[in-house]
Amino acid sequence: MSSSNSSSAVRSSAKHAAERIQQHLPPNGNHAISLSSSSLNLPSRTSIIAPGVAHSSRPKDRPSASSISNASSVSASSPSTRRSGTPVRRSQSKDFDDDNDPGRVRVSVRVRPRNGEELISDADFADLVELQPEIKRLKLRKNNWNSESYKFDEVFTDTASQKRVYEGVAKPVVEGVLSGYNGTIMAYGQTGTGKTYTVGKIGKDDAAERGIMVRALEDILLNASSASISVEISYLQLYMETIQDLLAPEKNNISINEDAKTGEVSVPGATVVNIQDLDHFLQVLQVGETNRHAANTKMNTESSRSHAILTVYVRRAMNEKSEKAKPESLGDKSIPRVRKSKLLIVDLAGTDGHMIEEAKFINLSLTSLGKCINALAEGSSHIPTRDSKLTRLLRDSFGGSARTSLIITIGPSARYHAETTSTIMFGQRAMKIVNMVKLKEEFDYESLCRKLETQVDHLTAEVERQNKLRNSEKLELEKRLRECENSFAEAEKNAVTRSKFLEKENTRLELSMKELLKELQLQKDQCDLMHDRAIQLEMKLKNTKEQEMGNYQYQRELAETTYTYESKIAELQKKLEDEDARSNAAEEQLRQMKRLISDRQVISQENEEANELKIKLEELSQMYESTVDELQTVKLDYDDLLHQKEKLGEEVRDMKERLLLEEKQRKQMESELSKLKKNLRESENVVEEKRYMKEDLSKASSESGAQTGSQRSQGLKKSLSGQRATMARLCEEVGIQKILQLIKSEDLEVQIQAVKVVANLAAEEANQVKIVEEGGVEALLMLVQSSQNSTILRVASGAIANLAMNEKSQDLIMNKGGAQLLAKMVTKTDDPQTLRMVAGALANLCGNEKFLKLLKEEEGIKGLLTMAQSGNIDIIAQVARGMANFAKCETREIMQGRRKGRSLLLEEGALEWLTSNSHIDSASTQRHIELALCHLAQNEENANDFRRTGSVTEIVRISVESSRDDIRSLAKKILKTNPYFSS
Ligand code: ADP
Ligand code: MG
Repeated sequence: MSSSNSSSAVRSSAKHAAERIQQHLPPNGNHAISLSSSSLNLPSRTSIIAPGVAHSSRPKDRPSASSISNASSVSASSPSTRRSGTPVRRSQSKDFDDDNDPGRVRVSVRVRPRNGEELISDADFADLVELQPEIKRLKLRKNNWNSESYKFDEVFTDTASQKRVYEGVAKPVVEGVLSGYNGTIMAYGQTGTGKTYTVGKIGKDDAAERGIMVRALEDILLNASSASISVEISYLQLYMETIQDLLAPEKNNISINEDAKTGEVSVPGATVVNIQDLDHFLQVLQVGETNRHAANTKMNTESSRSHAILTVYVRRAMNEKSEKAKPESLGDKSIPRVRKSKLLIVDLAGTDGHMIEEAKFINLSLTSLGKCINALAEGSSHIPTRDSKLTRLLRDSFGGSARTSLIITIGPSARYHAETTSTIMFGQRAMKIVNMVKLKEEFDYESLCRKLETQVDHLTAEVERQNKLRNSEKLELEKRLRECENSFAEAEKNAVTRSKFLEKENTRLELSMKELLKELQLQKDQCDLMHDRAIQLEMKLKNTKEQEMGNYQYQRELAETTYTYESKIAELQKKLEDEDARSNAAEEQLRQMKRLISDRQVISQENEEANELKIKLEELSQMYESTVDELQTVKLDYDDLLHQKEKLGEEVRDMKERLLLEEKQRKQMESELSKLKKNLRESENVVEEKRYMKEDLSKASSESGAQTGSQRSQGLKKSLSGQRATMARLCEEVGIQKILQLIKSEDLEVQIQAVKVVANLAAEEANQVKIVEEGGVEALLMLVQSSQNSTILRVASGAIANLAMNEKSQDLIMNKGGAQLLAKMVTKTDDPQTLRMVAGALANLCGNEKFLKLLKEEEGIKGLLTMAQSGNIDIIAQVARGMANFAKCETREIMQGRRKGRSLLLEEGALEWLTSNSHIDSASTQRHIELALCHLAQNEENANDFRRTGSVTEIVRISVESSRDDIRSLAKKILKTNPYFSS
């Protein structure tokens, strides 16, 4: 006690206030009070409770108040998880580096400044404790030799301000409480070290002196003004294991209630005051403080021996929009939620070493707290919270799901060595405790209920409204349905009527269609008829065209007739008029006569006369009519004829145009043909040249076997075969017959080209038969006979020579007098090429035994021998070949007994020619001559001639000198077997 005067003053004021409270308490004995400075309208510091203040008591029938005062709110934690707050055991290290762990119990240490006495006597505190606030360490000397350093969350020296202490010790916990977590702030230490100063100092005169309680409320209320937070407090004292209500001192034995389900601790009997603002709180706290002194005076104790416990209940309605937490939903309505948190600020009794009996009770709670802290620090499974009321009260606020901050206070004197050491060790143990901080949030079922009721009312009204609306709509719909049904029935009726009508219409249309079809058929028939008629007319037209000339005559006659008729008609008309006049007169007469007859009875004569006249008249009018008819018919015919004439004229024009067109086309074709011919000619020229060359070359190669010749021949053969292929194609395209016809062409050029083509074709054995069959032989022979053109003669002879290789054509050639014609060529030309062809042709014919005699008779042999006179080696070669062929055939005939007598050749002087040419330069010619001689020599009938011409020696020579083995052996055989040679 620093000042007994102030203490007594407070005491007296508290007593006064308590009396006032007693006066205004409601008779039902509910002691809850609510003090509001605003409602007091009094200076907050001068008086705590003003007279006439309506203390808003909390009647039992107010559920919201009771739920809070009884602290029966449902914790989010279940009983099974209640002890989940089992702290995590820390390592034995004295350092607690994990300052950021929000679950760990925060422990700070504060040294009280020295008082006057201490300043004088205790100069050696510095030897016991050394504070190192910069590194948050405290060094404690253990004995004379060593000291130990301890780490704390905060180390406050004696100069530390109340503000800094609050911020270091309490602020983090207060913030947690505002966020919905439970929190506990406790001051622990020896009596007189400044626990009350630190925690409960009201700072009436100096705001800087305000302790943690005031500053915490200040912070909470500041927040409460901005958020929907309600703040309520209760203030209790625990002394000798008895709980007294500091706000209602008569409640001196309040029991603690623990919810078996949630484990939540509440003090249902405690007065709970709803705090409006800081002044209000200060007043209430002052009341509490006063009551504490008063009680202690009454009990003859010191306040330092009791525990003072301020509980602040913070209740926050959750604004869903601002909260991140997902709202629970009930149906489609979210349930309003509240966060409830509790802040306990405990000013513990002093830990005085000198134990008096009374202190044992006081210390029961403290000892128990120490035991619990040890168990928590060691992570024990059993925390002996039930041992004392303090630990029971702190059960859900310390070492459980709360944020806890402990400030230990030490005195600045070496005299308190033991207490200071024990206090520091207590603090160190507490630092090892880690709480499982839990958010306490619950549903606000009351407001939800209210909300839901309002909604139900609203919805009921709405449902009723809707029902009414639906009923009226139903009626409306029924009405409309009926209307619809009616209109439907009508529509159906209409539809039936309409369909009937349509059916009728349909049948009608079908009928008319049938009629139309019939009509159409009729029209078609008519059309056909018209068509037939048109055809007939066309035919008629043709006839008419022929008669066109005649028509002219007819027209003239017609005109004349018409004229005649017209004049006749005029005459007749005149007559008719006359007759008319006469008949009128006659009628007049008749009438007169009739009258007369009635008078005289002589009617008959006149009557007869009148009848005659009448008949005449009728005849005349008939004549007239028929004449007019005739005239009209004639006119019609005339028109018809004119029309036909026009038509014919058109046709004639068409025809002329067509003719012109055709003429043009023909000319075009002709020019194309002549171009074609030209091309053909050019290719023919080349082909022809090559053909003869080929013949020679092949002969030469067969004679000499010269390699070069054979190679050349090979090349030529190739090109020739190519051209022949062209020829064959031509032949196929044009046809041999046509080509042969061209031979007879008057155009010499055409003739030449045609002969060339035939000659070329005749070189191929395959074509020969065709040429012969198509009359080629005759055509060629005709040419040879008639043409004066040397080219034609040469080419034609060549063609015949080629054809003469074929037996069939040989027959034809001979039968057509070909031999004679060929023989005549000898006199007709002296062209060696032509003569060579003629000689070749004859030589070929000489190879056919059928014609030996005919050949000789037609002067073929003579021709050959004449040609031999030319001295041309090629011609001679052919002559020699011819002789050899002839001799061979003849001898074969003789040998086979088909003929007899001297050789036909000899008659023409062939033997002389052969003998004289037997040394000729050409090897092949010589061979032929030798063969001819040998064959002739075989015929005994020729023996005389041989002898006569001295040709025997030739045979001898051949037998020795002939280049050919077969000829030599033949000659030898002749010499041996024929006796006339041997001689
Ligand atoms: P306790 O509650 O621990 O028994 P008190 O708070 O009653 O101790 O303090 C004892 C005395 O010391 C009081 O007179 C108090 O004003 C004074 N005192 C304590 N701490 C301080 C301090 N930090 N600054 C100034 N005076 C203090
Ligand atoms: Mg105290």
